[in-house]
Amino acid sequence: MFNTRTRIKDLLNSEKANYSATVMGWVRTFRNNQFIALNDGSTNNNIQVVVELGSLDENTLKRITTGACIKATGEVIPSLGKGQKVELKATGIEILGDSDAEKFPLQPKKHSLEFLREIAHLRFRTNTFGAIFRVRHALAFAIHEFFNKKGFVYLHSPIITASDAEGAGEMFKVTTFPLDGTAPKNDDGSINFKEDFFGRSTNLTVSGQLEGELAAMAFSDIYTFGPTFRAENSNTTRHLAEFWMIEPEMAFSDLEDNMNLAEEFIKYIIRYAMENNREDLEFLTQRLEEEEKQKPQNERSEMGLMEKLEFVVNNNFERITYTEAIDILRESNHNKKKKFQYLIEGWGVDLQSEHERYLVEKHFKKPVILTNYPKDIKAFYMRQNDDGKTVAAMDILAPGIGEIVGGSQREERLDKLTTRMNEMHIPTEELDWYLDTRRFGACPHAGFGLGFERLVLFVTGMTNIRDVIPFPRYPKSAAF
Ligand code: ATP
Ligand code: MN
Repeated sequence: MFNTRTRIKDLLNSEKANYSATVMGWVRTFRNNQFIALNDGSTNNNIQVVVELGSLDENTLKRITTGACIKATGEVIPSLGKGQKVELKATGIEILGDSDAEKFPLQPKKHSLEFLREIAHLRFRTNTFGAIFRVRHALAFAIHEFFNKKGFVYLHSPIITASDAEGAGEMFKVTTFPLDGTAPKNDDGSINFKEDFFGRSTNLTVSGQLEGELAAMAFSDIYTFGPTFRAENSNTTRHLAEFWMIEPEMAFSDLEDNMNLAEEFIKYIIRYAMENNREDLEFLTQRLEEEEKQKPQNERSEMGLMEKLEFVVNNNFERITYTEAIDILRESNHNKKKKFQYLIEGWGVDLQSEHERYLVEKHFKKPVILTNYPKDIKAFYMRQNDDGKTVAAMDILAPGIGEIVGGSQREERLDKLTTRMNEMHIPTEELDWYLDTRRFGACPHAGFGLGFERLVLFVTGMTNIRDVIPFPRYPKSAAF
């Protein structure tokens, strides 16, 4: 058997010493032809492998370079140096993979996040990205754990769909037709999708919600957790063209149940990361602190990362209506002094990210759940309130990010739903399968969508969403 190694994390964490072990990993640094800092990705902490002087031939020594992959066998002993409890006194070193130190792009020094984005295939081997992606993993695991404990069924909604959940467009087309102009056409010159692979026009999904609702009408509680795609040309630090979304859908739930679940859910997964990824979060807290030092005093955040996470899990989210939010924004000094790019003049406008961030960061200084938005700025399936103007929607806004969750109680009344669809020019024939849920055993139900990368941004304290997904897709970029 080749792999009888000990994970570096386990080795560093164990209280024992004076036993033999084998470790494998990638060389971070090699000092004085004697001290190898070795990392295997299980933790940001390296094991110090000590090569006894004269024990290795010249050629092997030369091949221990930054980036090289090695196997080291030896004795785990209490460390004399500071910074680590144990080290490995090597009796044998085998080079598994060479790395030309001249050409290896990751030098043992600080690289900019922009540079690392260009070498995303190697950035996993840095401390920052090691920490980010271990935290991302933990959050994903905690999401499944949370819903599993609550008895939710994990539903795999389709990635290729013929429906557009929001009726909003911005979708990537899926076709096997040639793109050279020879695709079959109808008499009027439009593309004849009847002859395409699926016999109709299809897209990559923007949301699994509609399918999720179907399943909730059988299992009561379901959630999806999968990739979604939006061909929106948003070059922001919060938008990706391919991102992961978690979408629970609950039968027998109203807007308040929905908010309660969303708040409990967010706190649960953040707490999970705090308990299980302390070391990585402490590293990221430190990283953010250093980054903040580059900023002018008045732009620095009041809380450190860990402090912010503690605060979020230990305090209630503020819950206010859209109408209350508009009043706060309109009356704010920020608005009066015309500091918003989009001034708030009246009821009915959609909130821009600057408004969301004002509410969360300046006014309430905590996450905010905004409810009961004007129906005209929300999707057709949201439940209509009795006032005739608003719908039972809720968005959760997080400090530093803005919208992190979008959800609503769904319109379960068939007549109200179809009337609204007609008003909004959503074809009812194409969504006949969806309307069946309202025909056969409808019930009050609700759900929400949480953008996974926005949550990872929040928890890691990173500022650009392209740094919290392994291989980001955004306009003009689909490398790796
Ligand atoms: P925004 O106004 O920020 O573009 P949205 O209103 O389009 O968001 P929804 O359609 O409600 O968002 O999607 C649900 C959740 O998915 C959002 O709350 C957000 O967390 C996330 N999300 C939406 N679009 C993107 C994107 N392009 N990249 C990453 N996450 C996204
Ligand atoms: Mn959007």
